[in-house]
Parts: sequence; C-alpha cells; structure tokens
Amino acid sequence: MNAAPPSVATPAAPLRQRGQHEVFCGLTSIIWLHRKMQDAFFLIVGSRTCAHLMQSAAGVMIFSEPRFATAIIDERDLAGMADMNDELDGVVARLLERRPDIRLLVLVGSCPSEVIKLDLARAAERLNGLHMPDRRVMSYSGSGIETTFTQGEDNFLAALVGSCEREAPDAPASLVVAGCIADIAEEQFLRIFEALGIANVSFLPPRRSGATPAIGPNTRFLLAQPYLTAAASALEARGAARIAAPFPLGEEGTTEWLRAAADAFGVEARKFDAITAAGRERARKAVSRHRERFQGKRVFLFPDSQLEPSLARFMSRELGAQIVEIGTPFLNRQIAASEIDLLPKGIRWSEGQDVDRQIDRCREAAPDLIICGMGLANPFEAEGRTTKWSIEFVFSPIHGYEQAGDLGELLTRPFARRDVLTVEV
Ligand code: SF4
Repeated sequence: MNAAPPSVATPAAPLRQRGQHEVFCGLTSIIWLHRKMQDAFFLIVGSRTCAHLMQSAAGVMIFSEPRFATAIIDERDLAGMADMNDELDGVVARLLERRPDIRLLVLVGSCPSEVIKLDLARAAERLNGLHMPDRRVMSYSGSGIETTFTQGEDNFLAALVGSCEREAPDAPASLVVAGCIADIAEEQFLRIFEALGIANVSFLPPRRSGATPAIGPNTRFLLAQPYLTAAASALEARGAARIAAPFPLGEEGTTEWLRAAADAFGVEARKFDAITAAGRERARKAVSRHRERFQGKRVFLFPDSQLEPSLARFMSRELGAQIVEIGTPFLNRQIAASEIDLLPKGIRWSEGQDVDRQIDRCREAAPDLIICGMGLANPFEAEGRTTKWSIEFVFSPIHGYEQAGDLGELLTRPFARRDVLTVEV
C-alpha cells in the first residue's frame, strides 16, 4: 500500500517518488539547437526509433537541406559484424563532402550508441584529426537513458565550453549569457547591456560556431535557462563565476536578472532604473491583460522541462495563480535558489516522478490548469481537464520584457481554447 504523500514537500525536502516517468529524451533539444547554430550539423548516432522521433518532432524538410540526420546503427552493427568506427568515418566523410556549409559537426549519442559503448568523444577526436582546421567535430550524449529533453542542450553547451579558447590573463571582464534563447530576445538583451555600459557580452550557443567566447577567471556568466547544471559546472571549471539571479521570464524575472548583471558590473542603481523603466512598464502592461483571466487559477506542474520553478514564480507573482504542485525532473537548489526565494511557502514540490501516483495527486487536486508533457496532455483533455504542453515554453520566444505578454498569452490560451470547445448539451 502506498503511503499518502505529505501535503507540503518543500524545495529542501521535495517529494521524491521513483517509478515510470514521461519525458522526451535529450535528442529533442536538437530541434531548437540546429535552428540556433546556423553552420552546425547534428548527426545522431542511433537507431530507427531515434530517426523517427526526430522526424516526427521536427517535421521532415523535403525542400531544404536539413541540419540534422541519423546515422543508423543496424543489426549488423549491434551484432559486432561491422566496425562501427569505420562506418561512422565513412558517413562523416560523405556528409562533409556533400555539405561544404557545415563548419561544426556534432555527433550526438543515443541509447543504442550508449548500450554498445561506442565512444563518440574518441570518434570526434579521430575525426578532428582528419577534418580540422576547416571543420570541427565534437560530441555529446542525448540518450534517453540518462537525459531529459532540456538536458540535451545542457550536455551540448558543456561540450561546447570544453572547446572554447582560454581567456588571456589580461583579458577585460566579460559577460557570457548561457542558454539557447530566441534571436529576438538576444538582440533586445544586447541593447540593454550596451545601454548599461556592460561590454564584451557573448551568447552561448553563438549563432555561428566560430564565435564561441574565450572563457576564464575574468568571465562572469548569467544563465538564461534554468536547466544548465552541466554547462554551469563546465564554465566554473574554467574559472568563470556565475551571477546568481532568477530567470528572465516576466517583468520581475527579467528585471532581477538584468539587475544581477548590472550589480556584478558596478552599474549605478539610478542608471539601471532609468534604462529599464520603459521596458518594465511595457511588460507590466502586457502581462496585466492576462492577469484578469488567470487570477486565482490553481495550477499543477508535472516534471518536464526544468523550467517549472520559473514558470510557477511568474504565474504566482505576475498572474495571481495559486500553485498546487511544482514537479521538476531535477532541482538544482543553487541555480533555482533565487526562484525558490520568490515563491510562496506551502507549495508542494516534487523531484523526479512516479507518473501514476502523480496523476492520482493531480486528479485529486482538480487544478484549473495542468502543465505537462504531450503524452499526458491528451488523456487529461479527454477527462475534461485544461492542459498546456510544457515543451512549448522551450520552443517559444518567452524571455525578456517584450515577450512577457506572449508568455502570459501562452498560459491563458488553454482557457480560451476550452471555452471554445465546451459545448452545452
Ligand atoms: S535516444 Fe533513446 S529514448 Fe531517445 S529516441 Fe533514441 S532510443 Fe528513444
């Protein structure tokens, strides 16, 4: 018999239940990474299942040259009848010959490559010997055995940091913003940093693979996404220092994120207020349109993207929601500390998942909105519950002042849809 869960599980002692969990694997991150880095190519070393996942998740591009593909490990490879490394070298040589636009080739590990212990880091090293300096090859794991979908980006960025140059000892102070965000949000942040007088700002991942920043003890970094535990460790291992902040979602999150950077670079409070005032006002106004609809709504978040604490903070403080449970696949208490401080007490936190028990808790709580993965959303909708796919928050431009209203809109849209779908009989 299962013991009843505690009504309140805190961030310090979240509810931890282990069982089946429902979340995409790290390969899914290629969908947004390949759009961001325009001269990179992601070659999954995996099975037909991996290829099908990517094709159905990203859509099949018939008329354009895609920037991801799968090198299929077939039965001969699994049976050890072929030399996987030779086969991989052949696939890479043909690909690079056909696609001179590729500057960075990323080998992405999967469950099958992990099971047969194919060493992709070593393969990347060997291929670099053949193709450098014109083309660079690196690797990371997106395997579903060890990663959820946002951890794919985390592993990729950690590997990318490993390939960044070391900062010169007399390098001026610099700021690295780590985490894939929409180009439009990146440009807006860059303008604000410039106005604040913060120079030498770069973004990870950059749009072109040759634009990776040099990293060292004069580097400060701000995470733009909360799921970057491995990338943050890689940056710290190079001597860079993390600027602790909430994440730039909503007016408050964006202001506190920018303020943390401004404080770290010695920008005067008066200057900061003057430069951010107009953006804050626009964001507040845009969010207030959605607050009326959202106020008092009870929300249950299933573990999926690791954005859950930041979304809960935005919904609670800017939209007036009541949060029932914040589920997250992993809770990095250091990285999430600023979000935890802003959230009201009394919310139940859960880390990891036993999906059946969590579904029971959710049904019992009967929330107004459920934020969850795609696999759970449809069955919940069939029960007449209102849901939102968490993966949409990773695909959509939601960071910064100008996107705060869009984030509010994304969260209120399920209520509008439910109103349209509800038919009185
Ligand atoms: S990496 Fe694993 S979980 Fe992901 S699609 Fe391939 S086999 Fe499935």
